[in-house]
Amino acid sequence: MENIIELNKDGSLIVPDTPVIPYIPGDGTGHDIWNATRLVLDKAVKTAYKGDKKILFKEIPAGEDSFKKTGEWLPKKTLEQIQKYKVAIKGPLTTPVGHGMRSLNVAIRQELDLFACIRPAKYIQGVPSPCSEPENIDMIIFRENTEDIYLGIEWEAGTKEAKEVLHFINKKTSKNLDETTTGIGIKPISEQYTKRLISKAIQYAIDNDRKNVTIMHKGNIMKYTEGAFLKWGYEVGEDEFKDSIITEQKLWKEFDGKIPEGRIVLKERIADNMFQQVLLRPSEYDVIAAPNLNGDYISDLLAAMVGGLGLAPGANIGDNCAVFEATHGTAPKYAGLDKVNPGSLILSGAMMLDHLGWDKASKTVRQALQKTILNKTVTYDLARQIEGSTKLKCSEFAKEICSLME
Ligand code: NAP
Repeated sequence: MENIIELNKDGSLIVPDTPVIPYIPGDGTGHDIWNATRLVLDKAVKTAYKGDKKILFKEIPAGEDSFKKTGEWLPKKTLEQIQKYKVAIKGPLTTPVGHGMRSLNVAIRQELDLFACIRPAKYIQGVPSPCSEPENIDMIIFRENTEDIYLGIEWEAGTKEAKEVLHFINKKTSKNLDETTTGIGIKPISEQYTKRLISKAIQYAIDNDRKNVTIMHKGNIMKYTEGAFLKWGYEVGEDEFKDSIITEQKLWKEFDGKIPEGRIVLKERIADNMFQQVLLRPSEYDVIAAPNLNGDYISDLLAAMVGGLGLAPGANIGDNCAVFEATHGTAPKYAGLDKVNPGSLILSGAMMLDHLGWDKASKTVRQALQKTILNKTVTYDLARQIEGSTKLKCSEFAKEICSLME
């Protein structure tokens, strides 16, 4: 078992020098960006550890390739392999149309209970941004990945189920909903799943010397789901991290806004306000914890603020395993053209190296990527925005990054 990552009792990883890490190349542009990413990760590990460490990548099937070969979009064995090896990386996957499965990505997250969708948004110098002070953007979102709208509890207007639910609502409340023309969607949010997500976000802030954690919610309107998310978030702060956090309210009431040494500020913002806050005052926000739908919106906003989906990394992490992934889709019109930006998957790979504790290698990746962009040698998406840039193919961009590693 010498190539298998193991877990300590506290959930931390025991990583051998040559761990097996399964990968799913993905559909559409997936193969192009995976090949580029693999080149960069292998070179970074070699550069950082002079050959003492190496990832043994192992392909596992999912998506269109898998369906063509095996008739299965997401074979059970693929999920078992991720559970066995504990860390995996994947490209984007097509959402099968008319197959009954909402999305392969959602299925992977739910089947493996990868309850935290983690998306950092940190400005990379030289990348065009629509914001006036993009260098102040350095946030990381912890989005709940298993409930809220991800549970997909919906009934179409006119169905027996929708009518039954509407009849129940009309009977129990003063509402008078039309039972034949109204569609129904339910967003469950539970105490235990909220608490494990917010606990992870606060722990991350502590481990990574972050200044604050903001709970994003719409609790003023949805009191028992979003409002409860906030209430349970404060309870986690009080019960699990009493000596490490201070609420914003207490900070102003008792400390005149001066943060006591070693404390992380626990804040809350109503979702609509959160959007303008991150745009107008980005330096005041650090770690953001959000329920599923809010987290979805704010993640893409922040990605756009720092250069778009082509450069936005992401990870889905649970207690037993983690999957690192490109945050964009398969961009099918560019499939096989060796054209798109592999930055999202490369930076997800850097997050994966951080997760393994291989910080020297992740730093090598980020520094070389930064230099490549400052040199204005970029893929089409950035080339069309950066004056005087040299447009590279996906594979050329990866080779350029490798050539700048020290
Ligand atoms: P998409 O694949 O993300 O592509 C939308 C647009 O985003 C592209 O046309 C391109 O814009 C830009 N883009 C995407 N990836 C890029 C990259 N690596 N570099 C530069 N630009 C990039 O979204 P979609 O067309 O809506 O979805 C296509 C398929 O992907 C669907 O089956 C969808 O379900 C699936 N999907 C999968 C995931 C996932 O696996 N995590 C996520 C989202 C969607 P320009 O044409 O303007 O250059």
